[in-house]
Amino acid sequence: MATHRTKMLIIGSGPAGYSAAIYAARAMLEPIVVQGLQPGGQLTITTDVENYPGFRDVVQGPWLMEEMKAQAEHVGTRMMWDTIVSVDLENGPPYKAIGDSGDEYIGDTLVICTGAQAKWLGVPGEQELGGKGVSACATCDGFFYRGKKVAVIGGGNTAVEEALYLTNHSDNVTLIHRRDELRAEKILQDRLLKHPKISTLWNKTVKRFEAGEDGALHHLVLEDTVTGESSTLEVDGAFVAIGHAPATELFKGKLAMDDSGYLDVEPGTPKTALPGVFAAGDVTDHVYRQAVTAAGMGCMAALDGERFLATMEQATAEPETEAAE
Ligand SMILES: Cc1cc2nc3c(=O)[nH]c(=O)nc-3n(C[C@H](O)[C@H](O)[C@H](O)COP(=O)(O)OP(=O)(O)OC[C@H]3O[C@@H](n4cnc5c(N)ncnc54)[C@H](O)[C@@H]3O)c2cc1C
Repeated sequence: MATHRTKMLIIGSGPAGYSAAIYAARAMLEPIVVQGLQPGGQLTITTDVENYPGFRDVVQGPWLMEEMKAQAEHVGTRMMWDTIVSVDLENGPPYKAIGDSGDEYIGDTLVICTGAQAKWLGVPGEQELGGKGVSACATCDGFFYRGKKVAVIGGGNTAVEEALYLTNHSDNVTLIHRRDELRAEKILQDRLLKHPKISTLWNKTVKRFEAGEDGALHHLVLEDTVTGESSTLEVDGAFVAIGHAPATELFKGKLAMDDSGYLDVEPGTPKTALPGVFAAGDVTDHVYRQAVTAAGMGCMAALDGERFLATMEQATAEPETEAAE
């Protein structure tokens, strides 16, 4: 078991974690990134990424994350193959974290970038057809279904927002919900129900996603929750929109979070209520949930961490100066 010390400990290796690392390393903070079970984060489970700035052509998610990692390492980040299993935030700074390996990590500042995972239905075909018609992000993938027929599964705000967003690309959007009324806010419901490009299928659950001969999604197999009847719906794309789960289990009772588990930060900043502890990316953002916004927040966290350390250093240096005078 080893102890690793750093000026900036970064938990998570998605766009937020790697961006924080790039800025921290270039500020000579010798950051450590603990990568977790999904090195590279959510983009490693997708294919085409067309909205990350800097690339004229479509890039592949796993490739993009490899590049970010290489860039972070190139400027001096230490990458750890480990997953944090507990944190001690009571006695810091510095803050301590313990890895699954048994190693201890001590950071003068802590940047939490543990992200979030989309909730899935868990039915046959869903994972197999991920990136081949099945998605959990209309902002990310809607563009690929221009002029095509798409479905959105869910009944909350996210589902309604995704359906409305998809009308920018498709004239034929079907919202499928397992109940006969939506949970979404009334104003969103009104917009959805009046929208000429959106139709609704009530009391239906998706039992399976099935591919056509080309290996891409061809149709959904549905079941009526009232009659039990089976039916199919042909679509080119299906967006599962039943919510996201932020990876914040570790921080329960230690950091403030909202009812859905997203970490609370001072508005417009990545600062949590604890000095020197920052949160960046999807772990604190239930609104935008994009690689570029996560990267931006990672950058902000590193810059604020650097300022925090400078203030601490100044505070400890000042009494000495006074004594010397
Ligand atoms: C299928 C799919 C397609 C997408 N397509 C796009 C797209 O085209 N464009 C776009 O901008 N966005 C897209 N997104 C959204 C984008 O991936 C996320 O917004 C972004 O990855 C969030 O970055 P993050 O750094 O906050 O967290 P994440 O990418 O979620 O990374 C979280 C990291 O935290 C680590 N972690 C978690 N718990 C621990 C722990 N206990 N210890 C150590 N590490 C831990 C994980 O291993 C992971 O490395 C897509 C998402 C999905 C799921």
